[in-house]
Amino acid sequence: MSVTPASVLEDGHQELVRSFESFLTREVEPLAAELPPDTEIPPTDLRDHVRRRSAELGFYAGDYPEELGGSGMPFLAVVLLHHAAGRNGSLLAPYTLAGSDGPSPLLRHGTTEQIKRYLVPLVRGTALRCLAMTEPHAGSDAFRLRTRARPADGGGWTLSGRKTFVSNADRADIAIVIADVTDVDGTPANGPGSGGGPTAFIVPMDAPGLHIGQSYQGMSGEPLFELVLDGVRLPADAVIGGADGIGCAAADGMESLTRGRLVVAAMCDGIAEYALRAGVAYAREREAFGERIGSFQHVQEHLVSTRAEVEAAKLLTLACARLVDQGQEAQENAAIAKLTSSQTAIRAVDRSLQVHGATGWVRGHPLELRYRQVRMMTIIEGTTELQKVIIARAMGLP
Ligand SMILES: Cc1cc2nc3c(=O)[nH]c(=O)nc-3n(C[C@H](O)[C@H](O)[C@H](O)COP(=O)(O)OP(=O)(O)OC[C@H]3O[C@@H](n4cnc5c(N)ncnc54)[C@H](O)[C@@H]3O)c2cc1C
Repeated sequence: MSVTPASVLEDGHQELVRSFESFLTREVEPLAAELPPDTEIPPTDLRDHVRRRSAELGFYAGDYPEELGGSGMPFLAVVLLHHAAGRNGSLLAPYTLAGSDGPSPLLRHGTTEQIKRYLVPLVRGTALRCLAMTEPHAGSDAFRLRTRARPADGGGWTLSGRKTFVSNADRADIAIVIADVTDVDGTPANGPGSGGGPTAFIVPMDAPGLHIGQSYQGMSGEPLFELVLDGVRLPADAVIGGADGIGCAAADGMESLTRGRLVVAAMCDGIAEYALRAGVAYAREREAFGERIGSFQHVQEHLVSTRAEVEAAKLLTLACARLVDQGQEAQENAAIAKLTSSQTAIRAVDRSLQVHGATGWVRGHPLELRYRQVRMMTIIEGTTELQKVIIARAMGLP
């Protein structure tokens, strides 16, 4: 079974994926194999180790420029690596690549000083960050913000509000907090040039007035956190991009969202391929009624449909990553890819679990874990419904 549509890839990309897979096999899988069988979240020191080692080898934040500690890879290469990490199936593999705790494209809009101070350590994997955007009353409608940033007496800013469902808040060195810049009296102003509106701030996690509130344990993975900002005082240069960055969070975030959605799509394609591989292997061995279950057409139907859907999803993700590399507008395509791959992955894991019967349903089986893990993929980086809204708008629907 082909693992990647090799015919659509250039030799250099295939070589890169092989070298990444060899790193996973030689250095990462043996560490994961030592973990207790019921491990869902690898210990922090192991995750830190594989992240830093991957950064040393140039895989971790590969699309960032070499002068910042990256490898200057095209975005397509990054997408291929995420795909390979998902397909690998090792619990530690996803931590070898920059995710929601790694460098943020938003910081590319930073001033020279911000890039040096905050982005470089993130690219090198020596620091972590979180993104605090969602609020208790505003998720999909992300810019209906109640978190406010007021100009403070004597210069700088005072931030107050509440953020929720923040990943990595317990481990991060900095938070990128999206807040509405208001007038001194708290009156909202809107948009670039108006002196106000949604703005991205860099907030050190030890800033006085910032604290972690409630934590939420989800179906799988690490907990999410509430972040409470209670009059957090920040210097004037805490705005990403300096004074020119005020009111720019929505526009600057578009690049992040397109790339983020394609990374999620690639992870989903990899997970789907992992699930398919497990299903095929099991169907070749398991017997019922004196035959291998893979000979039953109802079982074949699960695996063959998945195969066709996964190949289609992969090609869509790769084609869209190419558009990003060509500098073309890819918002609608990224929405289509994320929508397709996330739904495909959920179906792929579900079908493979079905092929495994009770064996796959037992707590601790890799497919049982993937079944819970993959469920978040239609919610993060914009829900399925929001992707459909983007596509409908691009189709000219009112
Ligand atoms: C695992 C995980 C990690 C996360 N990490 C972070 C993080 O690090 N930082 C952060 O800021 N947030 C994070 N989030 C929050 C995430 O961004 C939000 O959950 C997401 O944006 C959806 O918002 P919501 O949950 O408030 O749902 P809502 O926006 O309340 O939506 C509820 C339902 O209504 C639908 N809906 C909403 N608007 C429309 C519309 N216009 N048309 C059609 N349907 C619509 C949605 O699709 C959904 O089905 C995380 C969430 C999860 C699950």
